[in-house]
Amino acid sequence: MQYIDTHAHLNLSAFTKDRDEVIKRCQTEAVEVINIGTKESTSQLAVDLAEANKGMYAMVGLHPIQTTPEYHSEAEIGGAAFTSQGEAFNPEFYRELAKSDTVVGIGECGFDYFHNGTETYEVQEAAFVAQIKLANELGLPLMIHTRNPKPGDQSPTGRSVYTDVYDMLKQHAQVPFNVHFYAGTWGEAKKFFDLGGTISFTGVITFTKDYEEVVRNAPLDKMHAETDCPYVAPVPHRGGRCEPWMVQAVVEKIATIKHLEVELVAQQLRANAHTLYGI
Ligand SMILES: [Zn+2]
Repeated sequence: MQYIDTHAHLNLSAFTKDRDEVIKRCQTEAVEVINIGTKESTSQLAVDLAEANKGMYAMVGLHPIQTTPEYHSEAEIGGAAFTSQGEAFNPEFYRELAKSDTVVGIGECGFDYFHNGTETYEVQEAAFVAQIKLANELGLPLMIHTRNPKPGDQSPTGRSVYTDVYDMLKQHAQVPFNVHFYAGTWGEAKKFFDLGGTISFTGVITFTKDYEEVVRNAPLDKMHAETDCPYVAPVPHRGGRCEPWMVQAVVEKIATIKHLEVELVAQQLRANAHTLYGI
């Protein structure tokens, strides 16, 4: 295997109809995949897929937007609309799932200030801290979700989501972590590195220059490539459903920005993921 998509969601309904074909495409393209749980049912499916298919791994956890009941429209999500039921984080359920050798981390967990209002902060925080504690107990790394509010909106704490996540991790985490879909500043990234964390980039870097400074400055051994599929397909696949093998375009873009050989970047990113997630 040459590539690894460190944050994918083949466990979501966007892949219900042709999941096996997508998995075959990943295997043909030599792309390993870590499917990330967002609630109990999708965490279970991530583990089932990993146990049934070569080159697939899983993380189990509760996404912050799944902690409160709310309708999420297509326009808001950038994919199929869904209604989150509002699940509480049940450590027993996830502890049991994590007994599978295919489980390489806990998450995705963190704070979402974009989709969820201030009144949801305490529920999000409780689920986040509970997942950090489970990761500590099991010695597994954390997959962190972060999203700042819509432009012009206030965050529940009046601070950047990256500051809030940093404080939680500094206070509670005894395991390494990755901040996925990184969209923070270079200064915020440095603080995560100092705390022993890494950051990962999606196909977004192929169609906006907003993160070029961070990609350029970040040491190659502190970053990962991901797709977050079915969302944000990279150029030249934009507009369609994203699939894990498209992570190759993200790796190529990182190589271009850093003026490095694609081969070298692919190798290093794969090694980074294997080291952090014990693959
Ligand atoms: Zn995700």
